[in-house]
Amino acid sequence: MAKKEFQAESKKLMDMMINSIYTNKEIFLRELISNASDAIDKLYYKSLTDTSVGMNKGDFRILLTRDKDSRTLTISDNGIGMTREELEQNLGTIAHSGSLDFKKDNKDDENIDIIGQFGVGFYSAFMVADKVTVISKAYGSDEAWQWESSGADGYELEPAEKETAGTDIILHIKPDTETDNYDNFLDEYGIVAIVKKYSDYVRYPIQMEREKSRQKPEPDPKPDDYKPEWETYTELETLNSMVPIWKKQKSEVTDEEYANFYKDKFSDYADPARVIVSRTEGTANYNALLFVPSHRPYDFYTKDYEKGLALYASGVLIMEKCADLLPDYFSFVKGIVDSQDLSLNISREMLQKDNQLKLIHNALEKKIKNELHAMLANDREKYESFWKEFGRQLKFGAYSDYGMHAELLRDLLLFWSAKEQKMVTLQEYVDKMPAEQKYIYFAAGDSTDRLAKLPAAELVMDKGYDVLLLTEDVDEFCLQIMRTYPRKDAEGKDGTVEFKNVNSGDLGLETEDEKKAAEEATTANKALFDAMKDALDGKVKEVKVSTRLKDHPVCLSADGPLSIEMEKVLSKQPG
Ligand code: ADP
Ligand code: MG
Repeated sequence: MAKKEFQAESKKLMDMMINSIYTNKEIFLRELISNASDAIDKLYYKSLTDTSVGMNKGDFRILLTRDKDSRTLTISDNGIGMTREELEQNLGTIAHSGSLDFKKDNKDDENIDIIGQFGVGFYSAFMVADKVTVISKAYGSDEAWQWESSGADGYELEPAEKETAGTDIILHIKPDTETDNYDNFLDEYGIVAIVKKYSDYVRYPIQMEREKSRQKPEPDPKPDDYKPEWETYTELETLNSMVPIWKKQKSEVTDEEYANFYKDKFSDYADPARVIVSRTEGTANYNALLFVPSHRPYDFYTKDYEKGLALYASGVLIMEKCADLLPDYFSFVKGIVDSQDLSLNISREMLQKDNQLKLIHNALEKKIKNELHAMLANDREKYESFWKEFGRQLKFGAYSDYGMHAELLRDLLLFWSAKEQKMVTLQEYVDKMPAEQKYIYFAAGDSTDRLAKLPAAELVMDKGYDVLLLTEDVDEFCLQIMRTYPRKDAEGKDGTVEFKNVNSGDLGLETEDEKKAAEEATTANKALFDAMKDALDGKVKEVKVSTRLKDHPVCLSADGPLSIEMEKVLSKQPG
């Protein structure tokens, strides 16, 4: 049977495209600037091999012109332009992308960084304009053409006048309504803000006349009653910074430049604690510039805090906070990822869940982990102040998901050492353990001072063993879920050592004889202990002789997997 082609209600399709693809109207400017940049790229590429083009890289620019009276915003480029046929093909055919064809034809060339691919971005202009006029002259052609449309109804083509190659896109901006603000797209500051947000790293200058004011020259001689006078004038200004700082080599950028970029971009008053530059690793193709802040954002431990990295595709902003790029336990990291290889969805506001993203996530996770390790090893003081701000998040990461990430994070954790009177890593604790010590001891409670005075902690310390003093609720969960830490045995073979709460169960300190003596004393005084247990009326499970006491007459001890402290935490949780 002969196959039939699908018919499309192009009017409806256009309408859908214009009004339902994008969440943000302001995106139209990102799309039109991206097209201008692509057009320039194509002519620039040509100029590299064809000297008759007669253009240098510095000659290319994208010009924005606004006219409040006629309500027009014009985006002009001096790129490759379009012939009559190309206007029909590219702007008259939904989902036809001349840029994608170009990219395919030149796919072996690394210098090409063309943005377009879906063939729909242009129509986003109709979100803000009730009429769009395109005047274009293709490079190498001697005629110019005008394409004009009011959206779904179709378009008109006619010959036009234009001196040089390139394209002018003239948007007739819609009138303001009660619900929608369009005047912003004619406003100087409104436009500057949108360009900065989405197109700051477009490789060619985006220019616009800006209004300035200056003092008029003073007359000479100056009259006695002279008052300074001011005048306004306009000046062509480049709005974008063009070169993405993350594409520069680390050696080309000063610490101060990184710090300023960070503070500016992520609205922080303080310098970052660490700058991380990361590039393509293995099969993940990207440039990343990440920052570890030096202090917690005020909302960090609240629901309002949104983790994520700004995601760019070929220098154009796709998402301000892409959460999928960062694991939760590194949610404090800020920064930027730029990649050419993302499978964007058609609005270019989101990604298809793709493998590339996962690869970048994994590469960044490893990189951040290594950088934190380096900070711990080389700049302990800085690491400890980082730990004060974000340590809780790492401990939480080690313990969440049933300890899935414990192994990855365990060597980044710090705990207070009773013996050393400072923060130590688990490795440092284990390195100092006497050979016969059976456990990593810890005590959990409200303050390190009180914990150090616990009878059980004193007992362990008397043996010459260290005790980790845990004062945050998440601490003990974290150790409990890790259960053990690697330690080589006496013969140097790989083994593990368990964590032990000084308040729970058998501390492994007594000799067999001491244990036996305690059991005998308990049996011999059964009547006394039973009486004590009755007097405490169900508040304790058992009363017995303890080998743990030194100066104190009595201690409480938990029996079972949870310590008294953990039981307290759990009983505080709702539900
Ligand atoms: P995409 O950019 O994804 O290809 P668009 O709808 O934004 O889709 O643009 C469609 C096509 O129109 C582009 O691929 C390009 O061939 C052509 N085009 C758009 N704007 C310009 C321009 N300023 N100069 C030259 N060609 C352009
Ligand atoms: Mg486009």
